[in-house]
Amino acid sequence: MASYRVPAAAAEKPWTPPYCSLVAVDTSNFCYHACAICERTLPDRRSDCCFCSRRTTNPGSKRLYRLLLSVGTFDRVVPVVCFDRAARVLMGCSADEWASFLAAHPPAMEKAGEMLQGEMLKVTLSQSKWGNAEHLRASSVVPLRAGFRPVVDRLRRLYEMETGTSVEHHRHRH
Ligand SMILES: [Zn+2]
Repeated sequence: MASYRVPAAAAEKPWTPPYCSLVAVDTSNFCYHACAICERTLPDRRSDCCFCSRRTTNPGSKRLYRLLLSVGTFDRVVPVVCFDRAARVLMGCSADEWASFLAAHPPAMEKAGEMLQGEMLKVTLSQSKWGNAEHLRASSVVPLRAGFRPVVDRLRRLYEMETGTSVEHHRHRH
């Protein structure tokens, strides 16, 4: 098992265990703000990018995912940070779309975490340049379950069913 040492293994080159299970997801703090043009990190939503604002008035900002996951591999659980491209695979929409979905359905935050728990994934881990060096970064995420649907798709269907719209209607017609 020596070759499976984390994070030493991933510190040198990306490391992809055959499978991982998602032990937990921190859905309460899922994003950061970035310049809408160059995607540099901004301290908050209202700050302007100091590079792009020299050339454009109001470069604007957008949210990008930064999800904190606990991922179980063979014999341990490791904290993993998941940035925009990999997080979209799990969530099924952009971080801005997710933020407006949450504004309309606040309980979705907790539900998203519950839905993702236990999900089997193939995750490529590499060393994170962000924050604490203990965190590995998920550079790619591939769901392994055959019927996997991203969180926002499942939640949209769930809320449709709760309000008894299209699904109920469909059922009565058959
Ligand atoms: Zn910028």
